[in-house]
Amino acid sequence: MTEKKQSKKNSLARNIFIALVLAIIVGLLMQSQAEFLSTYIKPFGDIFLNLLKFIVTPIVLFSIIGGIISMKDIKKVGEVGGFTVIYYFLTTACAIIIGLSLANVFKKFFPVISTSDLTFEMTNEVSIMDTLVNIFPSNFIAPMVENNMLQIIVMSLIIGFSILMLEKTKQVKAIETIDILNDIFMKAMGLILKLSPIGVFCLLAPVIAANGPVIIGSLASVLLVAYLAYLLHALIVYSFTIKTLGGLNPIEFFKGMSSAMIFAFSSASSMGTLPINMKCCEELGADHDVTAFVLPLGATINMDGTAIYQGVCAVFIAACYGIDLSLGQMLTIVITSTLASIGTAGVPGSGMIMLAMVLQSVGLPVEGIALVAGVDRIFDMGRTVLNITGDASAAIINSNRLRKKGKIA
Ligand code: ASP
Repeated sequence: MTEKKQSKKNSLARNIFIALVLAIIVGLLMQSQAEFLSTYIKPFGDIFLNLLKFIVTPIVLFSIIGGIISMKDIKKVGEVGGFTVIYYFLTTACAIIIGLSLANVFKKFFPVISTSDLTFEMTNEVSIMDTLVNIFPSNFIAPMVENNMLQIIVMSLIIGFSILMLEKTKQVKAIETIDILNDIFMKAMGLILKLSPIGVFCLLAPVIAANGPVIIGSLASVLLVAYLAYLLHALIVYSFTIKTLGGLNPIEFFKGMSSAMIFAFSSASSMGTLPINMKCCEELGADHDVTAFVLPLGATINMDGTAIYQGVCAVFIAACYGIDLSLGQMLTIVITSTLASIGTAGVPGSGMIMLAMVLQSVGLPVEGIALVAGVDRIFDMGRTVLNITGDASAAIINSNRLRKKGKIA
C-alpha cells in the first residue's frame, strides 16, 4: 500500500472517530432536543445506512466468488490446500464460538437503549432446522432482492466452484470478469465508506441525546469483551494447534510473530502485513513455498478476529435493542461469520461491512452498527492481529506436516 493511500485510510478512521466524539458532545448537550435530532438529523444517517445495505450484496457476492477462485492453486498445492481450508474454517468457527460465549456471559453489562431512534421489532424467530433449510436458495434473484445473506453466500460458493470447473479459456475470461466486478464494487464501497463520519454522527447523536451517558460506558464494555475474546482465542486455540500440530513452543511462536503482530495492530490490514508476516513465518522455520501459498490465501479467506468481533457486536447490538438471540440465531451467526471470513477483504474496515451482513442474516437491525462504528478502528486493530496470527499458524503447521512426511527439507 502506498503511503498516500495509507494516510487516506488513517484520515478516514480519524474522521470517524472525530464524528463519534462530536456525536457524543452534541448528543449530551442536546438531550432536551432529542426529538429534533431524531426528526432532522437521523434521516441523513439513514441515507448512509441505505447505501451500506445497497453495497453489501454485490460485495459479498463477488468477493466470495473471488475468494473461491483464488483457491485455484489448491489443485497445484494439493493436500496443503485442503488441509489449510479445513483448518481455517475450524479455527474460525472456534473463534466465533468463543466470541459469542464471552459476549453472552457479559451481556448483562450491555445496556438496553430505550429510544425511538433505533427502535426495532423482532419479527422472525428462527429455529435451527429452519436455519438449515433456509440456507439454500430456491430462486436465483430472491436472495439478492431480499438481502438474504446466507443464501447469497451459498450462491457465491456454487458459482465460484463452477467457475473453477470451466475449461481453461472460459475460466480465464470468467476470472477476469469477476476481478473487474470485484474492483468496481470495492471502489463503490470506498466511496460509501467516505460518508461514514457523517453517517456515524447523524445516527449516533440522536441516540446519545435520548439515552444519555449510559451508552458511552457500554462502548468500553463491548471493546473489552472483544479484546478478551481475541486474547483467549490466541492463547487457547493457536497455542494448542501450534504445540500439537506445529511442533513448536507457543511462546516461541508468539515471540517470533511479534513484529508482524505489531504491524497488523497499527495498519489494521492483513494484506498490508503479508510481507512481514511471511518473513516472521520463515524465520520461525516455515517452508517458503508453503508460506507463499498459505498466507495470501489466509489473508483472503481466514479472519478469526473478524469473526469474534462480529459475534460480540451482534450480541451487543441485540442486547441494546432488548433482543435475546435464540440458539438458532446463534448458529446462524456462527455459520454466517465463518463464511463471511471468505468475503472479508484484508483491508481496514471491511469487517464492519460484513457485520451488516451478519446482522441481516439473523434479522437484527443494521442501524445498530452506528453504535459500534465510531470505535471500529479499535476493534479492527485487535482483530487484524488475530487474523494474521491465524494465517501464520497454518503456515507453521503445514510445514511441520510436510516435513514429517519427508516432502520438504
Ligand atoms: N482489517 C481486517 C484485516 O485486514 C479485516 C476486518 O476489517 O475485519 O484483516
